[in-house]
Amino acid sequence: HAKRQGKANYQVYSYTDSIHSYKKYNLDQDMRKAINNEEFEIFYQPQVEPISGAIYGAEALLRWNHPEWGYVSPGEFIPLAEENHLINAITDWVIEKVCAQLKNWKEKGIGLKPIAINISPTRFMKKGLAEYVKTLLSQYDISATFIELEITESTLLQNEKNVLSSLQQLRDLGIKIAIDDFGTGYSSLMSIRTFKPDIIKIDQIFTRHITSEGSVDKGIILSIIHLAKELGMTVVAEGVEEYEQLQFLLHNGCHYIQGYLFSKPLQKKDFYQILKTGSLSPSSACKLTIIDQ
Ligand code: C2E
Ligand code: MG
Ligand code: MG
Ligand code: MG
Repeated sequence: HAKRQGKANYQVYSYTDSIHSYKKYNLDQDMRKAINNEEFEIFYQPQVEPISGAIYGAEALLRWNHPEWGYVSPGEFIPLAEENHLINAITDWVIEKVCAQLKNWKEKGIGLKPIAINISPTRFMKKGLAEYVKTLLSQYDISATFIELEITESTLLQNEKNVLSSLQQLRDLGIKIAIDDFGTGYSSLMSIRTFKPDIIKIDQIFTRHITSEGSVDKGIILSIIHLAKELGMTVVAEGVEEYEQLQFLLHNGCHYIQGYLFSKPLQKKDFYQILKTGSLSPSSACKLTIIDQ
């Protein structure tokens, strides 16, 4: 192989390219078996109140432990699942697993917190989402206040009438809707105006450079927080990794923080421990600075 690769650049390119398509083909085939083989696992990333570190809730994030390729990132397999039409089955599996998990925690006598579930555009637009969620809530005896659904601006850009009626059905159940990756779509203000989400999640693209010199992101974040509060919506900042970012968000009244500074997405047993404790502090490197404030 090395010889052939050395011959001409295009062969090197086509070699990696074919690995890429082999992997894609392989993942595509294996995804059909992954649910039954229990290769999917849900991780939970805490969302915390910035001053006290109290746990507000968590986002459910899907992981795939593939027998051959190892850990495959959702950034890789979710788009593939959209293409091969497995996304609806996968989304429904996640919703059911989260409900079952909530029931399990409840039976252990622990105070539940809301869990946010990512809903792909395809699943959102398929009929029957509200009915499906309603059935699971009653089957697992879970209050609707413990489920939030995250959708993106691109989901909202589809057939407005259908989106509005689906949102209304979910709201009637008592389910909160979050706009995910807020500010990265094509019509952020229109999506707020038309769909009035309960929660706005500021995309990490804005959080990441808050503290850089000359960054416009501070201004953008301030306006999003202001806008959310003016409209009575909850605002969550994603991707908070540094103490300076936390400090800026805290001083400017951001309701909740999600990011590596407090915690990476955790396996259920580790998140359970945190649910029991009820709060988190920013990673130990930052602890002293926090106490100093
Ligand atoms: P998302 O919904 O915007 O989720 C947030 C992503 O940011 C997660 O990546 C999370 O691990 C990551 N993150 C959180 N805090 C930090 C931080 O401080 N720094 C950095 N660098 N990253 C942080 P993840 O888990 O790889 O998921 C990527 C995307 O895949 C998600 O973006 C979501 O769009 C999609 N996804 C994940 N799980 C599901 C699922 O169950 N269903 C669907 N439909 N999509 C999912
Ligand atoms: Mg999300
Ligand atoms: Mg997001
Ligand atoms: Mg995202």
